[in-house]
Amino acid sequence: EQRAFVMIKPDGVRRGLIGEIVRRFECKGLRVIRAELMQVSRETAQIHYGHLSAKPFFDELVEYITSGPVFAMIVEGCEAVANSRSLIGPTNPQDAPPGTIRGDYGLDVSENVIHGSDSADNAAKEIQLFFK
Ligand code: ATP
Ligand code: MG
Repeated sequence: EQRAFVMIKPDGVRRGLIGEIVRRFECKGLRVIRAELMQVSRETAQIHYGHLSAKPFFDELVEYITSGPVFAMIVEGCEAVANSRSLIGPTNPQDAPPGTIRGDYGLDVSENVIHGSDSADNAAKEIQLFFK
């Protein structure tokens, strides 16, 4: 058993994809044990994406993630981090195969619908940051 932090980004919320995405996690066998529609502050966005602060797209990324409410979730189950990432698919929706969330619902890397923790350590940090 493991926990992952998963967040439907503002484009996914705006497009009405919360129900469809939650359904995919539940069908897979992962449990949503906590969830909240929330506005991410600029401060939280800058901490969450701190490892990307030197990238040319960093300011655009902070604008994007704060552009409207996100649907933040704690997902629990067997290998929750790896299993969430396989449901989500590669970072760039253009490389994400059909059947993955980004492959089915995204077009461009700058608006890729959903976030999932990339390690158990980062999952714990992200859960603390968003649900403290
Ligand atoms: P996430 O952390 O959101 O689950 P990821 O782990 O697949 O995505 P990261 O490398 O951590 O990918 O990048 C974090 C986010 O930064 C991406 O999901 C995307 O929103 C944004 N991003 C990454 N690369 C680019 C890019 N070249 N141009 C614009 N935005 C980008
Ligand atoms: Mg990442």
